[in-house]
Amino acid sequence: MGHISQTIKSLHSSLPQGVELVAVSKFHPAPAILEAYEAGQRVFGESRATELVDKAKALPTDIKWHFIGHLQTNKVRMIMPHVSLIQSVDSERLLRLINAEAARIDRTIDVLLQVHVAQEETKFGFLPQELIDLMSTCDVTTMSNVRIVGVMGMASNTDDNTRVETDFKAISKTFNDIKALNLPGNEHFTVISMGMSDDHQLAIKHGSNMVRIGSTIFGYRQY
Ligand SMILES: *Cc1c(COP(=O)(O)O)cnc(C)c1O
Repeated sequence: MGHISQTIKSLHSSLPQGVELVAVSKFHPAPAILEAYEAGQRVFGESRATELVDKAKALPTDIKWHFIGHLQTNKVRMIMPHVSLIQSVDSERLLRLINAEAARIDRTIDVLLQVHVAQEETKFGFLPQELIDLMSTCDVTTMSNVRIVGVMGMASNTDDNTRVETDFKAISKTFNDIKALNLPGNEHFTVISMGMSDDHQLAIKHGSNMVRIGSTIFGYRQY
């Protein structure tokens, strides 16, 4: 058995019940994805629109593709027929555009709201309070073609576990604060997507139920 299938199988057996594995396949070619698929993996994450579309067209149709990168507004239409979850909604404008594009092709799309807690300035997302304010004021019932199913976030890129745990707690708290608003569709608001190759155990400890793992499965990516 190759490294990829071995790692998929060991993650499937070691992740706690209820924690979904997203295999982050960005920059890795179709044969690598197929090896993970043959090992039973069905959910894959991509961070570039064209790459997601090309792979979705070439690979088995029962794969669920998650978009996890910064989504430019001019790329929304392109991914819309192929994507099952957009994890990285980082502005109200993008949310409304996704709703409009989903309506155009008569589908409803699941999305996560991206929370920015990490110390790096380059990471996208809403600040926790900004997101809570948005959710308290925007009328989600006017967006009937998006279903907001949870939040996504990243911890700071540091070896300081205390900082990483602080970040994960802040993402979980943001989820809980939005959940407590009890907005229409609240029963679907269930996902906390956090944790990557190096920090997913800490993320799970703080409430993650969706982990996005790339390099552990596919090796270090080539830019
Ligand atoms: C690349 C990426 C991952 C996977 O990171 P690894 O450290 O390779 O596991 C997870 N989430 C997002 C948003 C990413 O861009």
